[in-house]
Amino acid sequence: MSAYGDTLAAFVGRELVALRPAADPVNVPMIRHWVEAMGDTNPRYLGSSPVAPASMMQAWTMRGFGAPVTAGGFDELVALLAEDGYTSVVATDSDFEYVRDVVPGDHLTVEEVVESISPEKATGLGVGRFVTTLKTYRDASGEVVATQRWRTLRFKPPAAAPAVAARPRPAINLDNAFWFEAAREHRLVVQRCLSCKTLRHPPGPCCPECQSFEWDTVEASGRGTLYSFVVAHHPRHPAFDYPLLIAVVELEEGTRLITNLTGVTAQDLIIGMPLEVEWLDADPELTLPVFRPLVSQEH
Ligand code: ZN
Repeated sequence: MSAYGDTLAAFVGRELVALRPAADPVNVPMIRHWVEAMGDTNPRYLGSSPVAPASMMQAWTMRGFGAPVTAGGFDELVALLAEDGYTSVVATDSDFEYVRDVVPGDHLTVEEVVESISPEKATGLGVGRFVTTLKTYRDASGEVVATQRWRTLRFKPPAAAPAVAARPRPAINLDNAFWFEAAREHRLVVQRCLSCKTLRHPPGPCCPECQSFEWDTVEASGRGTLYSFVVAHHPRHPAFDYPLLIAVVELEEGTRLITNLTGVTAQDLIIGMPLEVEWLDADPELTLPVFRPLVSQEH
């Protein structure tokens, strides 16, 4: 066995949490809160000679959330396991054995001893070691009222997969789906009113000029000019490269769209400069038009 294994093995049988008395004796008000919270109407718990629900055993001796943590074997074991990479924990089993009912007036104590530490095992969560402890609950005279076998898995969190951030999804609906479908085919289309022939973008159900709901599309040439732009530095989204050039491009057809610029830096942007579309296949579900400076004007 390795030195590390020896050190771990030395924990078996060791007291993890020293004998700790409950802050309060078993009492009716705490029983009342518990059964009300659980919706448990068993008359044994609040009758003339009340009995604490067995499921409250741990609650009597539990440390308050804000109570000071005293360093002890428990912290040592956690640190030792973390040293070897077992930094994550999940509770797997809690096996109680009840010796007798506890009743108001019982003043309980608990102590916790390491019962076993398993060899390294492969689990669905990652490789880890099962740590089983035995908690013993006693009354004021030292008689055992219950035991609890408590098993946790201390495991190495799997290395995070490299994050491939997806671009935020556009909100696609019945009125604009045609535009994104055309984009997936690398076609830049503009919606046209069938009644008055006005072009419009972004897509919408109704012509803002004549209120007609009848429409078709025309294919844009993909050329346009820089109408306006901003350079975004923050906040940063992992799917984008920064500084991010966000532009309003006026198409030859006359409509404008908001898009990103590529193949150019912020310093070289000039309002009115000619641009042409380039297709960005961002991921299998999303293709978007972006624009770059027009290389040659001989189109
Ligand atoms: Zn119209």
